[in-house]
Amino acid sequence: MNIIITGAAGFIGSHLSEALLQLGHSVTGVDHIESSSNRSIKEDNLKNILVHPEFQWQAVDLLNIDLNRLIADADIVFHLAGLAGVRNSWGSSFEDYLHANILLTQEIAEACKQSARLKKLVYASSSSIYGGGSGHYSSEQSPATPISPYGLTKLAGEHICAIYHKQYGLPYTALRYFTVYGPRQRPDMGFHRFMKAALLEEPLTVYGNGEQTRDFTYISDVVAANINAMNYKKHGNVFNIGGVETASVNDIVHKIEKLSGKKLQLHYLPEQPGDPFATRADISLARTELGYNPLISLDEGMAAEWSYITGLYGSKR
Ligand code: NAD
Repeated sequence: MNIIITGAAGFIGSHLSEALLQLGHSVTGVDHIESSSNRSIKEDNLKNILVHPEFQWQAVDLLNIDLNRLIADADIVFHLAGLAGVRNSWGSSFEDYLHANILLTQEIAEACKQSARLKKLVYASSSSIYGGGSGHYSSEQSPATPISPYGLTKLAGEHICAIYHKQYGLPYTALRYFTVYGPRQRPDMGFHRFMKAALLEEPLTVYGNGEQTRDFTYISDVVAANINAMNYKKHGNVFNIGGVETASVNDIVHKIEKLSGKKLQLHYLPEQPGDPFATRADISLARTELGYNPLISLDEGMAAEWSYITGLYGSKR
C-alpha cells in the first residue's frame, strides 16, 4: 500500500516507517527536519530508511505544502507530526502548539476528506488528554480533562478527526499513547535525559518528589498498535495504547543506576505545571478490538534504550 507518515524523522515516526517498509509497503515520510533544533538526532533516526528503495523523503513543513497533492495517492495516512511535550506548551510557545497540533490536524483532515482512495487516517493522540491522573486506570470513557495546553491541543486534534468523520465519513482511528520509550526517544523525555545524565555523569533535575508514576509503553508495542489500527476496518474510534507496567520516577532512577553502574546526582525541584501525578492505561478495548498486546517489559525496553544512549553520547564521555 501507499502510506504517508507525517513526522517520519521523529521518534515514533522513524520506527513506524522502518516497520512498514519491512512489511513491503511504499512509504512517503514527511518532516521539517531543516528547521529542527535536534537536526542531527533526526538525521540519525532516518539513516536506515533513507536508503530504502520504497521510501520517499520530503523535508518540508506540512503547513506550507499542498496537502491534497501529498495525500491524493495514499491508501493510509499516519499523522504523527506535531509538537510533543507538556512543559514547553505554556506561555508564548502555545502558538507553536496551536499551529503544529490543531491547525495542521485540521488541514490533514481536510485533505483526507477529499480523497476517495484513503482507507485510514491514524491520528497520534496522547494520555495527556486525561489530565491529572488519580493512579486509577483511565479508560476511553474516562473524562477528557487535560491539565496542560499540550493535552488540550491533542484533544482538539481528536475532536477535529471526530467531526470530519461525522460530517464527511473520514475513516480515522485515534491512538492515545502513554509515555513511549525505547531507542530514539526524544531528548526532552525522561529516560533519555536520565540515561544521558548517568552516562555523562551530569547532574539531573527531578521535578516533584519522584513518586509520580507513568504507564510506560515500549516503541515496538506502539508500532504494532499503529499497524493494527491501519488494518482495523471500523472507523471513528479511539484507543488507549499503554505498556506492560507502570513505575515511579524513583523506580526508574534505581533501574538506570543499576544499568549504568553509576549513582545519579539528583536535584529535586517542585513539580511542573501540567505534569500529571499518575497515568495508567486501561487497554482492554485495544486488546479486544485491535488485538493489541504489549509485550516488552520495562527491564528489557530500558536495556535497549540504554544501548541506544551509549551509542549516541558514548564518544562525549
Ligand atoms: P517527535 O518530536 O520525535 O516527532 C514529531 C515529528 O513531527 C518531529 O520530527 C517534527 O519535526 C515533526 N513535525 C512537527 N510539525 C511539523 C510540520 N509542520 N511539518 C513537518 N513535520 C513536522 O515526537 P514523537 O515522540 O515521535 O511523537 C509523535 C507523535 O505522537 C506526536 O504527535 C506526539 O504528540 C504523539 N505522542 C507521543 C508520545 C510519546 O511518548 N512520545 C506520547 C503521546 C503522544
